[in-house]
Amino acid sequence: MAIKTPQEYLASLNDGRVVYCDGKRVPDVTQHPILKICNEWVAMDYVMNNDPRYQDLLTDLDADGERVRFALQPQRTREDLLRLREVVKLWARATFGKPSGAKFVAKDGLNAVTVVSERIDKKYGTRYAANVAAYRRHLQQNDLAFAMGLTDVKGDRSLRPSQQKQHPDFYVHIVEERKDGIVVRGAKAHISQAPACNEILVAPCRAMREDDRDYAVAFGVPVNAPGVTLISAQPEVHEGFNLMDHPISGSVYINDAMIIFEDVFIPNERIFLKGEWEFAGQVAYMFANFHRLSAETYKAMELELLTGAAALLAEYNGIEKVSHVREKLTWLVMYTESIEVLGKAAVEHSIQEEGTDLVYPNPMIANICKYQFADNWHTATKYLQDIAGGIMVTAPSAKDFLNPETRAMVEKYLAGRDGIPTESRFRMMKLARDLTSSYEDDLTIHAEGSLEAQKMSILQLADFSRYKAAAKRAAGIVDEKSHPDYADLPAFPPKL
Ligand SMILES: Cc1cc2nc3c(=O)[nH]c(=O)nc-3n(C[C@H](O)[C@H](O)[C@H](O)COP(=O)(O)OP(=O)(O)OC[C@H]3O[C@@H](n4cnc5c(N)ncnc54)[C@H](O)[C@@H]3O)c2cc1C
Repeated sequence: MAIKTPQEYLASLNDGRVVYCDGKRVPDVTQHPILKICNEWVAMDYVMNNDPRYQDLLTDLDADGERVRFALQPQRTREDLLRLREVVKLWARATFGKPSGAKFVAKDGLNAVTVVSERIDKKYGTRYAANVAAYRRHLQQNDLAFAMGLTDVKGDRSLRPSQQKQHPDFYVHIVEERKDGIVVRGAKAHISQAPACNEILVAPCRAMREDDRDYAVAFGVPVNAPGVTLISAQPEVHEGFNLMDHPISGSVYINDAMIIFEDVFIPNERIFLKGEWEFAGQVAYMFANFHRLSAETYKAMELELLTGAAALLAEYNGIEKVSHVREKLTWLVMYTESIEVLGKAAVEHSIQEEGTDLVYPNPMIANICKYQFADNWHTATKYLQDIAGGIMVTAPSAKDFLNPETRAMVEKYLAGRDGIPTESRFRMMKLARDLTSSYEDDLTIHAEGSLEAQKMSILQLADFSRYKAAAKRAAGIVDEKSHPDYADLPAFPPKL
């Protein structure tokens, strides 16, 4: 069964997993009114995959000629990365800017452990690359939904994993080694759609030192493994909500859950890193490389949505020709298109991993793109809120809009430009409210790594020798070891 139907996927979630949501243990996640939102959003991945219109893009034939997900194939060429971008764009456009999560985040972790396991095997003669390849086959052959468990709960941020004071479990770590595997303890936070997945790919979120050896651990584990508990993120909507009020938050519940591992057994064949502490940071860094590409690809689609909402609200309010509004719309277009172009550039300038046939997005460009997106988001939402007006947050609820006693009044007094149905203006206001929620703000800043993480990478990768060479040459400072781009240029001003 290499391609699952949406129904098969949904049924697979009723497997005895331990999930809590909004204060209660959930006996069967497929029947829960709020978790269902997340499940159905993830199921869209299976809906599209079974649609013949998308099969050429979304699927591929594996080495045995079996049809598998393209997203789960290793990326070997720039063209593979470009195609992956198209996959993410389709996913994102189909589900309101947030790509349905069955493979979205964790495929990047799988690519990261694929690259780094080869490096570890080369140094230590381990067999992690074979384990990763077998895990990849397992995911492909069963068409599993999997989540990426990278971010630990972390405790005191100024202390490394092994230095934590209150208890040793702020980062997932090995507590026991057995002949046939390891036992792990600790917790990961914000793990998107984990309660709606079959598997969790776990990896370290930071560089480690020798003392942190036990924390340098990566593995794959089923969501229903004994000792795994998932606590759902606070839902944005409650039972009985109306989709008209919550067009995005009522159809996309990402459920960035907390995952607690309490003495969970991981068999040897599912381990991809075990104590090789100097590689922990490489896994985190490589995940970021791949994931920034995924992130900025979907962010550009999310911006299409946001800029579209701003343009429509300007029309509905009758202000689309006003100069400050045109200026804001121009800025939104530049922002949207620059994220699209920078994301594409990260792929055009992709990097070949030495000694392998694997490629990854250009880290400098990918980091700059993610930073630009996150750093400018609040300006974009400010513009959308400004154009929408206060009614965006003070409008009555859909129930009032639909109530025969109040509908005529709401229709009459909440109308905008002549010729635009009040319902369109009302719906667009609700969309703008969802797009500018505090959840969206925080997601943009922190998901895929906080702003400082990108700045650190950018500074590390910066070619200062080139920049300095340009400055020294202009200042007339002779440098024998100048950067090659500047070393052999003709004298300027010329001596004519
Ligand atoms: C909606 C959402 C979805 C997510 N999905 C996933 C997912 O699917 N899988 C996953 O693994 N992760 C996921 N994340 C986690 C995301 O990668 C983290 O939120 C991000 O890396 C920041 O970590 P944090 O939230 O622990 O914040 P913190 O690290 O606590 O950051 C708070 C502040 O402290 C600063 N800071 C922290 N440590 C240091 C330090 N040592 N030195 C200096 N400054 C420091 C940060 O720069 C920031 O300014 C998601 C996050 C969000 C918000």
